[in-house]
Amino acid sequence: MNLIYLDNAATTPLSEKALSDMTPYFMTEFGNASSLHQKGRIAKKVVDLARDTIAHSIGARSNEIYFTSGGTESDNWAIRGAIKASKNKVKHIVTSAIEHPAVLNTCQDLEREGVLVTYVYPDKNGVISLESIKKAVNANTVLISIMFANNEIGTIQPISEIGSFCRAEGIVFHTDAVQAMGTMEIDVDKMNIDLLSMSAHKFNGPKGIGVLYIRTGVKIDRFMTGGEQERGKRAGTLATPLIVGMASALKETLENREVNNEKMIRLRDDFINGVQKNIPYVHLNGDRAKRLANNINFSFEFIEGESLLMRLDLDGIAVSSGSACASGSLQASHVIKAIGVSDELAHSTIRFSLGKDTTQEQMNHTLEVLIKNVKVLREMSPLYDSKKKEGKYV
Ligand code: PLP
Repeated sequence: MNLIYLDNAATTPLSEKALSDMTPYFMTEFGNASSLHQKGRIAKKVVDLARDTIAHSIGARSNEIYFTSGGTESDNWAIRGAIKASKNKVKHIVTSAIEHPAVLNTCQDLEREGVLVTYVYPDKNGVISLESIKKAVNANTVLISIMFANNEIGTIQPISEIGSFCRAEGIVFHTDAVQAMGTMEIDVDKMNIDLLSMSAHKFNGPKGIGVLYIRTGVKIDRFMTGGEQERGKRAGTLATPLIVGMASALKETLENREVNNEKMIRLRDDFINGVQKNIPYVHLNGDRAKRLANNINFSFEFIEGESLLMRLDLDGIAVSSGSACASGSLQASHVIKAIGVSDELAHSTIRFSLGKDTTQEQMNHTLEVLIKNVKVLREMSPLYDSKKKEGKYV
């Protein structure tokens, strides 16, 4: 069997249609979208069309779509830009403890500059409640930044509820929708979202291109100094081929969303049931129902996530572990720890993230290989052995 790729939350393969749509803009139609001559006008026209497609997909207006280099830049710009634009003397942000590092590290950076930040914790299922956000807000709160769906455990947050609250309180609401875009229905007006980050490579678009949606009237400073592109808000020559590829991939993804979601949910749930039935001492991380169609995240007691990842890799299955490499040592995931999982168990975590092309056959094979490897690794574990001897485990 060919490689089974179950790391679609990290990145997805580029759609063939997107590749063929974007290719001319690398080659014959290479013009700069800011140039006034014919080549420039051709580039501008396709950028505008792409902008329309992306705006339409989230119920926004085209002039509220700003192209960036990806999710990280969009998150940085949203948070730093909103804080910089605020006239408050004391500036306070409410975010969650399970955000992507693009949000968390930005907030931590701002803390060093005197901005106050409250990190709200989710419940044990990884869901952040509106109540906890309300408790964290004070008179100085400028911005609330809560991700649409989590990249590790797939939990979907109550974005509409948070949006209504922010609107009523006059607080700017940013959501990192990098993982949600493509599988979730998003309407920035209905959900009262002011700022939204997305990234093309998570929905079969090219890497290095993203969008920040900025609601008309929301005050946000420019992030970089330079030219007057993107209505003077985001400097830099527009990446025409990547922009075309992003819109093409998004269109294709949304056209097939229902069918693909249905399939992925069935494969996801069968796999979760299969693991729980066949492997003892496993813990599903993240809410069972409020989770992305393509996310499965388990902690396996007595097993080191990286060892399991390597064994699966050798068997031709690509997954991701819950640990992050920080200065040469593996740190347990801040997300898994934030839902109350012990450090030890957090190190035993594996994420399987499905894609539109994942098949039943691949998932059946993955389950088989997983059962085998978990057994082998546990047999090598002295801790498992001693627990067995104590009669606690079979
Ligand atoms: N936010 C979330 C939730 C993500 O999952 C990612 C990527 O993993 C990012 C932001 C960063 O996006 P990019 O890779 O486009 O910079």
